[in-house]
Order: sequence, then structure tokens, then C-alpha cells
Amino acid sequence: MNKMINFNVPPYVEKSMQYIRECIDMQKICGDGAYTKKCNEWIEERTGTAKCLLTTSCTHATELAALLADIGPGDEVIMPAYTFVSTADAFVLRGAVPVFVDIRPDTMNLDEKLIEDAVTEKTKAIVPVHYAGVACEMDTIMDIADRHGLVVIEDAAQGIMSSYKGKALGTIGDYGCYSFHETKNYSMGEGGALLIRDQKNVENAEIIREKGTNRSKFFRGQIDKYTWVNFGSSYLPSDLNAAYLYAQLEIADEINQDRLALWNRYYERLKPLEDAGKLELPVIPDGCVHNAHMFYVKTKDIQERTAFIAYLKSHNILSVFHYIPLHTAPAGKRFGRFHGEDRYTTRESERLARLPMYYRLTQSEVDYICDKIVEFYS
Ligand SMILES: *Cc1c(COP(=O)(O)O)cnc(C)c1O
Repeated sequence: MNKMINFNVPPYVEKSMQYIRECIDMQKICGDGAYTKKCNEWIEERTGTAKCLLTTSCTHATELAALLADIGPGDEVIMPAYTFVSTADAFVLRGAVPVFVDIRPDTMNLDEKLIEDAVTEKTKAIVPVHYAGVACEMDTIMDIADRHGLVVIEDAAQGIMSSYKGKALGTIGDYGCYSFHETKNYSMGEGGALLIRDQKNVENAEIIREKGTNRSKFFRGQIDKYTWVNFGSSYLPSDLNAAYLYAQLEIADEINQDRLALWNRYYERLKPLEDAGKLELPVIPDGCVHNAHMFYVKTKDIQERTAFIAYLKSHNILSVFHYIPLHTAPAGKRFGRFHGEDRYTTRESERLARLPMYYRLTQSEVDYICDKIVEFYS
């Protein structure tokens, strides 16, 4: 193959152009227009959450959740170090301290057995990150949160269409955050959503998202003028972006099936290499349904990974590594701390390489990639 196989291609479906055109023709391109409502309702219906509010990013959805959870200076928030910076940033902005706990090597998710030991009087929240759209062990996490009176904010940036024991990711904790960045399964360029489990938290969320005003109530005709009632910011995306996204949500199952077929093909083709002890493949625990957000392999160590990525690149295939653990980054050292031993976070992160995965990647491209991986190991 001469053509470069990209690591990611942003999802696009034809209908998007028609929907964007409609927004322009209706002269309604600001936030909370018709397409934002359609996206919110689609997510509410699909996931069963009490309320979904589209946001400008998952980072902003997490910031909104941190404000709603009343996170303040000195509070501690338990999370993995193997995650994107936004997971920590949203709480650091509130003056809180991210307390990093080691991950499980099988799923790369927060090790639920290590969380309780990290809880102190200052702990306010737990932020499980569902890596690769594969759920954290939520029953255990919710039990710890209940017993210690902690808020749970799910970083489900990669988790739309995935579930844990039949529950959609993002709906189990008090709040759930989705991302619609161009690297995610469904995209609006930049965007996200906040899922709110309990009705009692909805009104305040709407207020903070709308610059601290009760404008949402006003638009629903529940009050006759709107005013400034609380602190807030502007977390609502343009309806143009929502229109782009909505066309994908309409065919969400088709996109999901396509991705899963590619994922399964990778798995099937690479399984013999795993069986031969050459590399490791992702693990999907019982009770977890995933969304094929990512296909990764684990090489022996960082040296082998560097050679692996270079080999694929020499054959026009873009494979990439992922997070540098936050506790090893300058800001992570300044703002956070690692509780307990880093047994797996660094070691496993150095072995992981992600393979091309996007809507409209073809089976024959996956086969070609797998051929080259087999070649690398022979
Ligand atoms: C993509 C991602 C984010 C950030 O999403 P944005 O929409 O770009 O703000 C946060 N956490 C995780 C785990 C992600 O994968």
C-alpha cells in the first residue's frame, strides 16, 4: 500500500451538511438551538440519564461537574495518572489536589482495590476514566463512594455507546462526561456533554452552563424574564457543531458496528501473536460492552515499542503511543501526588501502542496492518 494509513480520520456523514445548512437558513447558529436539543434528547434516550447537556468539550463538561460538586481549595480528588490532562485540570482549576492511584494492567483503568487506601478526610471525589471505552469496576467504586460520601464523576470521554452491567457509561456516577473531539467515535470538532444522574442537580447545571443565569428556564417559558442567579460560565456549543454531530448520532449503531467489526478483525488476526507470547491484546472484562474506541497492543517494553512504531511507519501505517503518566509531568508534580506504588502506570504506558481505528477504515487496511505486525515479529 502506497497510501498512508492515518491513525485517525474524523467521522463525517453526508447529512451533516444539510443540517448545518438548516441552522444557517433558520438564522439560528448560537447555542441551545434545535440540533443541540436533538443531541441532548438522543443521549438521554439512549443512556437513560436524567439530563444531558451538550458542552463545548469534555474538558468543560468536567469543569462544570467540578463546579457542581463544589470542589474547592485543598480538596482531594482520586483519579488515575494514566489519563488525559483534562481529567486533572478541571479540579486543579478549583484549587483541588489530584491524588493519583495505580492502574490495573489488564484494562489500564483505575485499580478499584487501591482507591480506599487513598481516601482521607479531604477526599471529595473519585474520577474513574473508562480507558478505550472499557468500563472501570463501577460497583466497587460506587460502594466506596457511598461509604465515604464521595462524588463520582466519570470521565467517559471515550465511553459513549459502552456499558457496564447493562448501564451506559457516564450514567453510573453523579456526573458523566463525554467528548466529541475529532478523535472520538462521534464528533463535532470540539465538543462534549455532561450527563447528570439526579434530577436535583439539573437546575444548577443549566444555570452554571448559561453564565450563571436562569435563561434555560426562561426559554422553556417557566419564568417571564431571566436574570443572574449564580456564578457561571459559557459551556454551550454553537448549534452548527451540534448539527454536525447529530447526523452521526442518527446512525450511531451503524458506526458502532463498523468499528466493532474492525476491532474484532484486529483481535482475531493478532491473537496468534499473543498466544505465542510476542505481544498482548486488550482485555474486556465480563459485564463490559465496549465501543471499539481504540485498538491497542502491548509490546515487551519501550524499546520494542519504538521499533514497532518505526517499522509500521516505514510501511505507511501511523501507530501512536498514548498518555505520559500525569504524575511524571511538570504540572502533575506541582499540583498532584501519587498515592501508593506506581507498579503498572509507568510500565504499562510505555508498552502500549495504538493502531489506526476510525469509521471508514477498511477491513483490507486492517489486514494489511496485521500482515506488517506479523512480519515485524517474525
Ligand atoms: C478526549 C479526552 C478528554 C478531553 O476531551 P475534550 O473534548 O477534547 O475536552 C478527556 N479525557 C479523556 C480520557 C479523553 O480521552
